[in-house]
This record gives sequence, structure tokens and C-alpha cells, in this order.
Amino acid sequence: MNPEPGTAAPTDFIRAIVDDDLASGTHHGRVATRFPPEPNGYLHIGHAKSICLNFGIAEERKGICNLRFDDTNPTKEDVEYVDSIKEDVRWLGFTWSAELYASDYFEQLYQFAVALIQRGLAYVDSLNADEIRGHRGTLTEPGTNSPYRDRPIAESLDLFARMRAGEFPDGAHVLRAKIDMASPNMNMRDPALYRIRHASHHRTGDAWCIYPMYDYAHPLSDAIEKITHSICTLEFEDHRPLYDWLVDHLIEGDKPHQYEFARLNLNYTVMSKRKLLQLVQQGHVTGWNDPRMPTISGLRRRGYTPESIRDFCARIGVAKKENVIDVAQLEHSIREDLNTRAPRVMAVLRPLKVVVTNYPEGQAEDVDVINNPEDPGAGTRKVPFSRVLYIERADFMEDPPKKFFRLSPGKEVRLRCAYFVTCTEVVKDAAGHVTELRCTYDPATRGGDAPDGRKVKATLHWVSAAHAVPIEVRLYDRLFSVEDPENAPDGKTFVDYMNPRSLEVLRGCQAEPSLAPAAVAARFQFERLGYFCVDPDSRPGALVFNRTVSLRDTWAKISGRAPS
Ligand code: ATP
Ligand code: MG
Repeated sequence: MNPEPGTAAPTDFIRAIVDDDLASGTHHGRVATRFPPEPNGYLHIGHAKSICLNFGIAEERKGICNLRFDDTNPTKEDVEYVDSIKEDVRWLGFTWSAELYASDYFEQLYQFAVALIQRGLAYVDSLNADEIRGHRGTLTEPGTNSPYRDRPIAESLDLFARMRAGEFPDGAHVLRAKIDMASPNMNMRDPALYRIRHASHHRTGDAWCIYPMYDYAHPLSDAIEKITHSICTLEFEDHRPLYDWLVDHLIEGDKPHQYEFARLNLNYTVMSKRKLLQLVQQGHVTGWNDPRMPTISGLRRRGYTPESIRDFCARIGVAKKENVIDVAQLEHSIREDLNTRAPRVMAVLRPLKVVVTNYPEGQAEDVDVINNPEDPGAGTRKVPFSRVLYIERADFMEDPPKKFFRLSPGKEVRLRCAYFVTCTEVVKDAAGHVTELRCTYDPATRGGDAPDGRKVKATLHWVSAAHAVPIEVRLYDRLFSVEDPENAPDGKTFVDYMNPRSLEVLRGCQAEPSLAPAAVAARFQFERLGYFCVDPDSRPGALVFNRTVSLRDTWAKISGRAPS
């Protein structure tokens, strides 16, 4: 049995480490984590896993969690991304202890580098990028020392100061740690610590023309903030010796430690920011918040709740082994959440007109409809019923197969919470398309039950034509038609595997009038169809709905299409 959303007390190997440290008094009983996004794109569902882990541990263990922007690469970063990241973390329901920027530490990081040079632990290398690559060796062969490796400390100090002063063009020199060119770990073969980059930074402007490398800035930023548990994804495991080397040489007292967990991989999507950016820039989607994107902002616009995303993260857990999670699990979490709280309404996506011939013309009545069978407190509402109705086109078949229990000539069905109706006539246009059904209703079945106990095999949703509000509905399907678009074979790229039917726009859908005042982001279950939410493209009198997710398998039944 899965725990109820929000009630699971997550436990995993990282929380076990934190608890051990608390018990043994390591870090003096403190817990401090951080979430360190690079502001070069929008957050995605993978980041949510890291956010839930870092902020979750701090919350549960009464520690702190900082939001730290790892803004060490000026050319790719932008305040647009900073703002979106803050909005998304907040929306997920987390509050950071402090909003911090690696760029705030540029002066301290520079002084740390000077200290390394002074102690003979770093040097300015004047080889160019190609030459440095040529000296690096391979996984099986050791690298070779740069001819500048043993230049005098004073010379490196002088060059480093002049690098900062802007005397050299990009690439003329780099500052490297002096570790071991023969190390079996490539990250320890004198890694670059600083490079020259004449570029404006979104926060520091033109104050700097040298920028620290991520591997250098990250552990020291952790140390400056007194982070205790620096949690990151597995690809940084091989960087941990460098993390420790820097911290051991430069930090006195309590030191942060790095722990790695397996990143979230989801099928039928891409999760690299570079690829997501490409989708946006090349116009394959309408933006970072396109409801088909795996971004937090895309999922929000699609209708996902923060609770459902946190529940999903709790269910997938945190482990050290890479795996791929089925996107159906994410859909399960949102279905389960919305099932308990989304009000039910009736909307017809592909309307077919029904005239109830024995219902008086010009008359209408209200029937009582249950708002949410999962939530008795949600009560009922009045829905107008009248002579001309719309039902779903797919709920009628003129020549039905044996197992088709919905409407067909001569058949009786229930209209939800209203009456039994029987189809008496099929009206067609010149081309033979069904344009209208004529039915009779049984006034004795008001409310949806027959006093004589006779049964019907189907209950249809419906709207009254005179009262209906027209809406636009956007149906989404997977953005990619293959499970693993990132590993496209035969010289193709992930873009070649985009699903051409990932968006279907339906105009002229008809909804019950209670939907008219719905606000942007309001969520509903359209009975029998799925969960839908109001898109920000909506205008007064012209609501647009996104399908968040279909009901388990009913979409296939009603529409004849596979559920997404
Ligand atoms: P990219 O994937 O574009 O190379 P990134 O996803 O590493 O970049 P960051 O901004 O550096 O982007 O990520 C911030 C934090 O989120 C990091 O600690 C990173 O480990 C974590 N993170 C990123 N992707 C995932 C993922 N798929 N699952 C879990 N955590 C992730
Ligand atoms: Mg990263």
C-alpha cells in the first residue's frame, strides 16, 4: 500500500547519514543543506527531487536549507532564470533560510586562490586549451606536467593578479590546482580553478573578468555557508576527491561533506537544461512553461499541484542506483491528489446535439448534481436541463458492436443525475454525417433512477445547449514518442523523436454554466474525461482548459484513443 500523500515520513540512505551525524554530534548537531541551481534555465521535475530532499531534510531535522545560485558562468545566466527558480521553489512549498549567490563570494574565492598559490598548491598555466587537453592523458595513461607547473610562486601570484586586472585575453592563462597529473581520477590532474572570461555577469557586472570553475566554487561556497551535508547527483562522485582536497587545504574546523544520490530520469521526456532550452529556442514548444514540458512551470500550467509533485518525489525515494521512472507514476500522483479535491463538472468536448422531443419547448429545470463523490462535504450544485442538449459524439454509435452499451438507436441510457433517455431518430446531413439525435425522456426517472427498477448500462455526461458556455480544450500527449529520446539511434537527435500529436486543440467544446466564472489555474474533473485546469490564455467569456491527465483508462473508452 502506498502511503497517503503528504503523510509518508521519507527515509533513505542520506537521511540515515544525517541522523547518524546528529546522534554522534558530528557538525556539532547542526544540519545545513543547500539547493544550488545554476540560473541558466528553468527548474524541472528532476530538480524537484533534489529540492524535496534538501529542503525536506532541513525541515524534518530542524536545520536550515539555503537557496544558492551557482552563478559562476556569466555567459549562460540570466535574472529571468533566477526569478523563475525562486517562484518554482516557493510554489513547491519550500522556504529557504537564505537566498545566496556564489557570485557574492567572488572576492573570498579569489583570496582562497591566492592562498593556494602562496602555499605552492596552485599555479598559473599559460598553455592554451588544446595544449592542456593534450597534456591531460587518458583514462589508461597518465597525463604530463605542464612546462609552467613549476614556475615560481611569485610569478604565478603576479600573473593571477594581472589576470584579474584584465591584462590578458580569454584563454591566455588559467589557474590550476597543483595535485597529480598521474592520478587515476582525471578530476585530480591539476584541474582548472579560474579562467579568463571577459563577459558581464548578471550580478557583478564588469567587476570581474576571471571566473571560478564550478568544481572550485562549489565546495568553498558550501564551506563559507557552513553547509554540513552537500547533497548532489551521482555524476559528481568522481569530483568528491577534489571537493575534499579544496576543503581540507583551505577550511579550518567543521567541514562540509558531499553525498551523491541517483538523479531522477523519466521516460518519454528530456531533462537536460541544454535540450529543454533547444526546444524553447527552436520553437518546438511555446516556452519553458509549455504544459508539455517537464519543467515545474510547465507542470504547474498543466494543472499539477505542488502536493502531487512532492508526493511523487516521496514515492520514488532516494537511492544510489540509477534507474528510469515511468511517467505514469507522476500521473498517478496527480490523479490521486485531484481525485480527492477536484470538483466534478460536466463538459462535452466533441458535441453531438440531442433534442428531447417530449420535453416542453422553452422550458428548463435545475437538477442536483454531486460535486465530488470522494468528498461528501463538497455538496451538490444545480445544473440546468432543457430540451436541447449536447452529449459526447463518441457516446453514440448508429451500428454499435455487441459490447457498446452507450447510446444507439432504440437504446435507453441515463443522463447523469437527470433522466433516462431513449434514442428514437438519427438525423444526418447530405453527406451522411450524424448531425442530431432525437430522443424521448422518461419523466419518472428524474434524478437518474427508474421507479420500476429497470436498469440502463450507461450513464452519460451532458450539457444543456441553451445554457452551455463554449470553451477551448487543449489535450496533451507525451512530448516524445519514444521512451528514451536522449539516446536516439542512427545519427538522429532527440528532436527527431518529438510526438507530432503531443497537442490537440479542440474548439467549440461545451461546458455547464457553473464553469463560467472559473479562475486561471482552477482545477476540475470533467466527468468521465479527466482532470482539467484553466490556462492563463483564457479571456472573459473564452475559457481555455488544459487536460492535466486523463482518468485512468476511460479516455480510451470514450474517445477511442489511447490514454496519455
Ligand atoms: P544540466 O542537467 O543542464 O547539466 P543541472 O540539472 O545539473 O544541469 P543545476 O542547476 O546545476 O542543473 O542543478 C541544481 C541541482 O539539482 C544540482 O544539485 C543537481 O544535482 C540537481 N539535479 C539536477 N538534475 C537532477 C535530476 N534529474 N534529479 C535529481 N537532481 C537533479
Ligand atoms: Mg549542474
